[in-house]
Amino acid sequence: MTELLPATPENIAHAAKILHQGGLVAFPTETVYGLGANALNEQAARNIFTAKGRPTADPLIVHLSGVEQLPLVAHSVPQAAYQLMQRFWPGPLTLLLPKQPTVPDLVTSGLETVAVRVPAHPVALALLRQSGLPLAAPSANRFGHTSPTTAQHVWHDLRGRIDLILDGGPTTIGVESTVLDLSTSPARILRPGGVTREMLEAVIGPVTVLGQKRKAEPGLPSPGLLEKHYAPRAEMILFTGEHARQALQTYVAEQAHTRKIGALAADEEAEMLERTGALVYRLGSDLESIARHIYAGMRWLDSQGVEVIVCRDFGESGLGLAVRDRLTRAAGKVIRST
Ligand code: AMP
Ligand code: MG
Repeated sequence: MTELLPATPENIAHAAKILHQGGLVAFPTETVYGLGANALNEQAARNIFTAKGRPTADPLIVHLSGVEQLPLVAHSVPQAAYQLMQRFWPGPLTLLLPKQPTVPDLVTSGLETVAVRVPAHPVALALLRQSGLPLAAPSANRFGHTSPTTAQHVWHDLRGRIDLILDGGPTTIGVESTVLDLSTSPARILRPGGVTREMLEAVIGPVTVLGQKRKAEPGLPSPGLLEKHYAPRAEMILFTGEHARQALQTYVAEQAHTRKIGALAADEEAEMLERTGALVYRLGSDLESIARHIYAGMRWLDSQGVEVIVCRDFGESGLGLAVRDRLTRAAGKVIRST
């Protein structure tokens, strides 16, 4: 039985108790909803993998209530990490740090590093403080599916498989945290996310971005970064390149009379695509809004029974890079027009 409860102080206290007993609680963070368990309890962490259907080769991010909890899970923290924590925690930045032996190998998929962050959401922080536990918490969706940005999304994917969902309303950032590897010089972004490359570079100088790997390979620096991920049920096609918008419109015009087409669109192109015959989900007009709505849009179009979801690339500056990363992984096909 899964409870779905509003994130009141009483229900947060109830959630903390469940976590102490080794249970699973989904809760809102500023990025997406997380599926939390006591990170220092191997059986509890194992339950996360089972509930999600997630392969154990895909390590979990450990959430802390503050920097003071860092010694519980990590050691030998470099100076640059402290600079970044001071600037971006609480917030959507995950750092890879040498792990303490008390963190079960299962949590880190056998790696010597542990991924840690302090989330900037009042419910997540209240739960972390109330429980006093470091919480392993990947996104609260079935493995490979679109990440959840509302409690209803979590209910759709995980009801009957977890103990409790705390409803704290829709999340604000809407894409996952940035995962940063500080063991290389320069530091490198393994997964672009809520803290942008530009923001990181303003603090620690140049950082590189790991190119998108197409296949899971042994020795991949971030085992979770598989090609196909974050995917809706419908076939998804991403249009990239200089003439992406025109190519997308042409595609809709050609296909809309034979297939039910859904489009994720910025406000400025929404009307044009509606007139061309697509069912449109409006993402808003700036990158913050586009990032916030991208997953909800995929889920909504799926719920409307579209056969194909089309979308264009929104560039690589700021949050554009994170949006591009998710769209590329969600899409079965990328059409590049130059
Ligand atoms: P999620 O918890 O679903 O947001 O995914 C967390 C992602 O962070 C994983 O899929 C990995 O790609 C990455 N990650 C977590 N821990 C590590 C680690 N120790 N080393 C490298 N990448 C990691
Ligand atoms: Mg995930």
